[in-house]
Amino acid sequence: MLVNLNDVLRQAQKEHYAVGLFNTHDTDMLEAAISAAEEARSPIVIGTAEVLLPFGDLPLISPSLIAAAKRASVPVVVHYDHGLTFDRTLEAMKMGFSSVMFDASVKPYEENISETREIVKIAHSLGISVEGEIGHVGQTSTGDEGNDAMYTTVEEAVEFQKATGVDALAVSVGTAHGVYKAKPKLNLERLRDIRTALDTPLVLHGGSGLSDDDFRNAIRDGIAKLNIHTDLCLAGMRAMRAQCAKLDPEHPVTSDYLETRNAKVAEIKACVLNKLQLFGSVGKA
Ligand SMILES: [Zn+2]
Repeated sequence: MLVNLNDVLRQAQKEHYAVGLFNTHDTDMLEAAISAAEEARSPIVIGTAEVLLPFGDLPLISPSLIAAAKRASVPVVVHYDHGLTFDRTLEAMKMGFSSVMFDASVKPYEENISETREIVKIAHSLGISVEGEIGHVGQTSTGDEGNDAMYTTVEEAVEFQKATGVDALAVSVGTAHGVYKAKPKLNLERLRDIRTALDTPLVLHGGSGLSDDDFRNAIRDGIAKLNIHTDLCLAGMRAMRAQCAKLDPEHPVTSDYLETRNAKVAEIKACVLNKLQLFGSVGKA
């Protein structure tokens, strides 16, 4: 069933587990994520992000995401991750996404507040949930995970939520997007301080590459939503490489493609199942 973030994150926060967001910008990833969630009887967040649109056109992928969520036997949020522009974020809402993230975290603080507030006003009038970001979760490619100048402060988090009315808040406490070069170090003390000061569900981006203990500690200290994308790409590539190594390039057949595709879906599904276990959301649907 299609739900929004408020339908799943409040319960997660109360019962101390996290709901995973798995970006699924093609129908292979979509099939893998939904079947994993149904098998695990777990709520799940699927979707795409503005930077991923070149790899899965929004008008093309949206109907599949929404149909899959409506058909699923578990609660599924269809979330537009890292909306960077008003136009594309509104387009996602018009296409039926049940949730959006609006990310103006690289802009000056006041602009981040005023733009996010505007999105919240429109989204809430349509029953759509909104995630915002304060502090900035950067990229591993530029080493942003170690830059504590980007970390969210308690004061900013409280003020930002009050001023915008976001339903969930992405915080920067030591993670970044992409493949980590060195083991990231989470600032759990900062996370606990934000959690104590603020009742809004908190989100951790850049989850791919964290250790099992990092996930457990982050959930224990107040994270209710965890974002995974890179790990799905790595899992899919691993399966395709292994499958391709078995093929005979001298005698190509149709099943080379079909079986490689199925192996990819199976490996991505296994990756999602593993994360659902780790996040504690198995059996919560
Ligand atoms: Zn992110």
